[in-house]
Amino acid sequence: MVLQAQPTTYEPKTQEIAKQLLAATRENRSFFASIRDQMRWDDKLLAWAMSNPGLRVQLFRFIDCLPALRSKPEIARHLQEYLGDESVELPTALKGMLNFANPDSMPGQVAATTVSTAVETLAHKYIAGENIQQTLKTIERLRKEKMAFTIDILGEAVITEAEAQSYLERYLDLMAQLAAASKNWKPVAQIDEADGEALPQVQVSVKLTAFYSQFDPLDAAGSAARVSDRIRTVLRKAKELGVSIHFDMEQYAYKDLIFSILKQVLQEEEFRSRTDVGVTVQAYLRDSERDTQDLIAWVKQRGYPLTVRLVKGAYWDQETIKAEQKHWQQPVFNDKAATDLNFEKITQLLLENHEYIYSAIGSHNVRSQAHAIAIAENLKIPRRRFEMQVLYGMGDKLAKALSDRGYRVRVYCPYGELLPGMAYLIRRLLENTANSSFLRQNLEERPIEELIVPPILREQGAGSRESGVGSRESERRSSPHSSLLTPHPFSPAADTDYAAVEAREQSQQAFQQVRQLFGKTYLPLVNGEYVSTEEIIDSVNPSNFSEVVGKVGLLSVEQAEQAMQAAKAAFPGWKNTPAKQRASILRKAGDLMELRRAELSAWIVLEVGKPVKEADAEVSEAIDFCRYYAAEMERLDAGYNYDVAGETNRYLYQPRGIAVVISPWNFPLAIATGMTVAALVAGNCTLLKPAETSSVIAAKLTEILVEAGFPKGVYQFVPGKGSKVGAHLVNHPDTHLIAFTGSREVGCRIYAEAAKVQPGQKHLKRVIAEMGGKNGMIVDESADLDQAVVGVVQSAFGYSGQKCSAASRVIVLDSVYDTFIHRLVEATRSLNIGATELPSTQVGPVIDGNAQARIREYIEQGRQEAKVALEIPSSDNGYFVNPTIFTEVPPTATIAQEEIFGPVVAVIRVKNFEEAIAVANGTDYALTGGLYSRTPSHIQMAQEQFEVGNLYINRTITGAIVARQPFGGFKMSGVGSKAGGPDYLLQFLEPRTVTENVQRQGFAPIEGAE
Ligand SMILES: Cc1cc2nc3c(=O)[nH]c(=O)nc-3n(C[C@H](O)[C@H](O)[C@H](O)COP(=O)(O)OP(=O)(O)OC[C@H]3O[C@@H](n4cnc5c(N)ncnc54)[C@H](O)[C@@H]3O)c2cc1C
Repeated sequence: MVLQAQPTTYEPKTQEIAKQLLAATRENRSFFASIRDQMRWDDKLLAWAMSNPGLRVQLFRFIDCLPALRSKPEIARHLQEYLGDESVELPTALKGMLNFANPDSMPGQVAATTVSTAVETLAHKYIAGENIQQTLKTIERLRKEKMAFTIDILGEAVITEAEAQSYLERYLDLMAQLAAASKNWKPVAQIDEADGEALPQVQVSVKLTAFYSQFDPLDAAGSAARVSDRIRTVLRKAKELGVSIHFDMEQYAYKDLIFSILKQVLQEEEFRSRTDVGVTVQAYLRDSERDTQDLIAWVKQRGYPLTVRLVKGAYWDQETIKAEQKHWQQPVFNDKAATDLNFEKITQLLLENHEYIYSAIGSHNVRSQAHAIAIAENLKIPRRRFEMQVLYGMGDKLAKALSDRGYRVRVYCPYGELLPGMAYLIRRLLENTANSSFLRQNLEERPIEELIVPPILREQGAGSRESGVGSRESERRSSPHSSLLTPHPFSPAADTDYAAVEAREQSQQAFQQVRQLFGKTYLPLVNGEYVSTEEIIDSVNPSNFSEVVGKVGLLSVEQAEQAMQAAKAAFPGWKNTPAKQRASILRKAGDLMELRRAELSAWIVLEVGKPVKEADAEVSEAIDFCRYYAAEMERLDAGYNYDVAGETNRYLYQPRGIAVVISPWNFPLAIATGMTVAALVAGNCTLLKPAETSSVIAAKLTEILVEAGFPKGVYQFVPGKGSKVGAHLVNHPDTHLIAFTGSREVGCRIYAEAAKVQPGQKHLKRVIAEMGGKNGMIVDESADLDQAVVGVVQSAFGYSGQKCSAASRVIVLDSVYDTFIHRLVEATRSLNIGATELPSTQVGPVIDGNAQARIREYIEQGRQEAKVALEIPSSDNGYFVNPTIFTEVPPTATIAQEEIFGPVVAVIRVKNFEEAIAVANGTDYALTGGLYSRTPSHIQMAQEQFEVGNLYINRTITGAIVARQPFGGFKMSGVGSKAGGPDYLLQFLEPRTVTENVQRQGFAPIEGAE
């Protein structure tokens, strides 16, 4: 459906101005002429990228990696690896250039030089200078052309507190240098004054999240406190120097918090009357019209105007992908015309409120700018009240045409080195070469009428959504996502988006509710009854072990035996319950978990010391297990037919019998749920024995499974001592199947015990055991260190290293070793350590005193074997062991070989990639592994040779998602097929084949014959 926007009163004037501006931008240029004449490789690269989507992807990937490459042969090799990819059809000139046999050869060096020079030239088009001197020259040139500027410092991602401090200092220094230089500038009336008011000559653009390395909407108050101080410092300095400050807008997740922080600071008495400050609105966001209205209302109440820079938004691809991966509603419009239309609406809103808002219209789209001018001229808006803005290198001709019309034009000038500037360059290249981009369409000389037509909506939904109805809260969470990719066979649960204030409030309320239930007693469930026990244990909060989260009754062996008998009695009925019915109980359990999500997360946080976001992701995983295994059982229940004439063949599955599930404390809900519901949906009667330290959560799971409708005796909750009750059930002759997740030591023991045939036992037991890992992550010389450092920190120290998938070895190539270590140590030092209930906490305690003592022993061992690069003292009231990093660790050291299950990481130095793979594979385990690399041949080699059950490339190695990343390893990491994968349920079933001869006396119906 195509919807044309209602033409506004400004339309005729918009058209007229747009035509004039377009004519000016097209003067003296013809695209095809320029292609023909151009000899420069940078232009060629861009032209090829536009005409060849496969090449565009590979070329931009190569450009992204280029600054990390240190030598010509390296560059030549990567050129061949990226552009020689079979999927890419190369232009003849490029093919010829890449046709060298050896990257060390002369032709290889020539190719490397040509392309890297071209990319540098390309980068310099968008970067105002690599240092302040170059940047000052650019600014002075712009001023000669009557254009104002705003400066942005390009930088690496801020991942450490040292980097956040340095970001602040660099801005303070920049402002001082620019202010000093400005003293020598000749005034330019068109940009330095308006309506008799002198305007600041210097403006800088700042990214607020860079003021605090752990900026996180979940920790709204903590993040606000940390960045607000730095904002105040910048605002004070700016006032002293006569500089104006503009705040950029970043990813959607930060938007609400950025607005709220800025409003709060700018409302303070000291800053309330400041009018030399600006904020940014991104029109591609569905929330943006409402946000603009809120801003206007707030500015009115504040009483002093502010600048609002309106842009469409620079992170469209990233936002789209993130929402898709997280199963969140798209925060951005999916139709370019919807963004354009929204931009025009907000332009009008801002300009009509010019009494309160100084508008800065940031766009390279002639129509968008013309529309703004049409309104401004129509409303006779004073010049002080609006200006036009472009990015350096993006809209030079448009900027000139606007300036020639007498408008104040400001050019956004990023400055800094190429390497840190790469993310910015890639964003500009994407923007320039996208099919939908105005700049590209203008370059291709599309007909003028087409370029300046009012935005036409193609998405029916976009029409209503763009009206601003779709708030984040109503649209974003939990509603089924519209997949842009292949649909999944089941509907996955979306994690909570803590960027929404309601989600944070809900989480706080859940903590209060859960705390009120502290100390309550939970009893085992045997044959449908909660039974009293002689022994009762306390389960405590590892962040503060004086708090008893709950008391749990432990079964005696006799009671466990009663449970076993009840399971036996219930089995025939459950076995005969249709698989569909069993599946629907699972789905109900998943739905109940969704309803109790915040509460379940709170129990996880408080009973096993897992930070809030990770606890929430665990609830999603538990829900996914219910829904996925329900769908899987229905798939398997259909069986397979293999009929031939006169013979039917049925391949079917039946349950095995009695399943004993022994679940760990580290994923107290997800793993307990996964193993239990898999056994149940397959038709087995199931006894769940949780780890003692996480029994309260298992009791909550029990409440849910009972409410969902599992009959008595079918599901039983049997907490008890592992050495007594656990052993009794494992050794029991009536046990058919043991599903275990836990340590290698216990797993191996269960495997051995289960192999013994007990008196009266008429079957062999099946054991599914997920055990440990000694997971390694390789970081090679081409890795994006911003990503690698963050990924390693999260993988190693997330949940204090207590996930089976956690990274405990980092294998780093010599050439990047020192840089990597420096940033790893600083990034780890910047983490917040504390009670996991606090939203600021990234690293909490370990599970109990035994774990704490064992990990500390390993740390002592590490001191003998390697260098301590970081050790943070820990507090005493909880079971804390703070992150510890060992460097120069020999690959055979104990700390590089044994599973520690704590926040301890061993960093190993290797000479080359082959050695890295050999070291990675050099342990008894094969669970998870990771690689940070942008070298295609390394990625391929890792795919083929890195011996792990789950290999993650260029991302964290924890957080597997059901169906997407079925989870489990081999070697000493476990036996059985992957949880959350298509083979998992098979382990809980016995396959049978039934063949019937349906031929009688030579007669049987023959399909297709009369
Ligand atoms: C001075 C200045 C400052 C800036 N500051 C910021 C900032 O703080 N934060 C920020 O995010 N960006 C910022 N930008 C970048 C800006 O967002 C992009 O340059 C701008 O979106 C490009 O839009 P355009 O109007 O120039 O071009 P157009 O070609 O008309 O529009 C391209 C834009 O449309 C949107 N789009 C593309 N495809 C789709 C689709 N399928 N559905 C919906 N929308 C789509 C995207 O936003 C894309 O960037 C700034 C730009 C300028 C000029």
